[in-house]
Parts: sequence; structure tokens; C-alpha cells
Amino acid sequence: NNGLCIRELQVEYKGGQVALGKVTLTLPEHGIYTIIGPSGSGKSTLLRAVAGLLPGYSGELLYNGKPVHDKDTLVGLVPQNYGLLPWKTVRDNIRIAMKITGTAAADKADRETRITRWLEAMGIAGLEGRYPLSLSGGQQQRVAIARAFAILPQIMLLDEPFSALDAVTREALQQIFLDNWLAHPATALFVTHDVDEAILLGQKIVILPAGTGKRTELEVLDNAAV
Ligand code: ADP
Ligand code: ADP
Repeated sequence: NNGLCIRELQVEYKGGQVALGKVTLTLPEHGIYTIIGPSGSGKSTLLRAVAGLLPGYSGELLYNGKPVHDKDTLVGLVPQNYGLLPWKTVRDNIRIAMKITGTAAADKADRETRITRWLEAMGIAGLEGRYPLSLSGGQQQRVAIARAFAILPQIMLLDEPFSALDAVTREALQQIFLDNWLAHPATALFVTHDVDEAILLGQKIVILPAGTGKRTELEVLDNAAV
């Protein structure tokens, strides 16, 4: 019962195409789960459903026995293209996310300290006054990850966050993600199409096969390499 329980999740987009068909998956709390599978198998759709970004789906999404989209469960999202507000500074981007998600219940001074701490942890303290479009891709992705951690989410969703980065930047960010996750071990669903990355980061690995049109219970595989 503890952790994320996805039961018979089915998503159809407009036009009736089934993007994800009755997928069942149980992920115990506090792990990094890498999700791999061919393009079009529904990995992004799965994350969007958990993030609450889809207008409709059928099936059940529970976290520790309660609906994921309850106010009690905070979900942090790191999209592939960073998803930062371009007309807001780095610090404001994080501040706004904390306010929207209610993480701001903490007092103002505490909130600002927390933002500073996550910026430092991601190695971007000096960029707090900058605007996203003046930053490199790697720097923007650091901001997006800091923003996701700063809301102190129970669930963290990462959709191929490093796939657009060069190899050196990618390795640095993989390490920094792992270090920060240890400081805040959310239940992380990390989508990647890179098998090496899946093995490097995932404590467990989930394979989403193409065309899950039928009822499918996904297996959570041990990562022998971890
Ligand atoms: P993956 O992330 O594994 O590549 P997606 O979740 O993006 O897979 O897509 C699963 C299927 O749903 C694909 O066939 C894709 O074309 C389709 N799809 C994704 N988003 C939409 C959308 N907004 N409208 C219609 N079809 C979509
Ligand atoms: P990703 O590469 O991250 O899986 P996609 O390429 O699936 O993302 O989707 C990019 C955008 O296009 C998303 O907003 C998605 O909703 C939309 N999209 C994807 N496939 C389709 C489709 N078949 N029809 C309409 N919109 C789609």
C-alpha cells in the first residue's frame, strides 16, 4: 500500500487513440525507477497522467493509499525542455512553483533560505537573478531540477531530462541529480530512452513495451548494477 500504485491506467487522446492501455504498476516509496521503452509506448503519457496534466484517464492512481491528485501529495515535474517561465528570474521560477504547490506554507524567510539551499546544491547560486533564456541548456535543466526538489515532492517525475544535453553536461547532471535525490529521496519516475542512463540511475527498472493495448501488469526489475 505504500508508494505509488497505478492500477489499470488507460489513456486515450482525442480521436480515440489508446496511448496507454490498462497499465498496472506498483512502485514502493523512495526509489529511483527508470522507465524505458520504445518511442510511442506511452512513457510521457504515463508521467503526464501522474502529474495531473491529462484531462481524462481511467483507472486508479494512488500514493500511500490516497489519490495522487489530492492536495497531500506533491508532484515535482522535470520536463525535457525545462518548462521554465522565460519572463521570470531563476529565483522567481522556483518561488512561484513553491507558492502554486502550497510548499509556501513555510514562512517567507524559510522559503527563501530553502531556495538558496537548492540553488547551491545544484551549483547555480550565482544565476539566481538571471532569466532562463540567457542560460545554457544544462543550466536551465539545473534550475528545473532545483525547482522540482524545492517543492519537497513525494513524487518526482523526470521526462528524458538529460537527452538534449551533450555527454559531459549529461554526466555532471546525472551525478548532481543522484546527490540531491539522496538529500530528498522522493519516489522518482525517470523516463529515458538511454539504456546506459537507465542502468546508471535506476535502483529499479521498468520496461514499458510498445502497444500496451491489453491489460498489462508491469514488472519492476532489480538493477543488478546498483
Ligand atoms: P513515449 O513517451 O513513450 O514516446 P507518448 O506517451 O509520447 O510515448 O505517446 C504514446 C502515444 O500517444 C503515441 O502514439 C503518441 O503519438 C500518442 N500521443 C501522445 N500525445 C498525444 C496527444 N496530445 N494527442 C494525441 N496523441 C498523442
Ligand atoms: P515526448 O517526446 O516528450 O514524448 P511528444 O513528442 O510525445 O513528447 O509530444 C510533444 C507534444 O506533442 C506534447 O504536447 C504532446 O501532447 C503532443 N503530441 C504528441 N503526439 C501527438 C499526436 N499524435 N497528436 C497530437 N499531439 C501529439
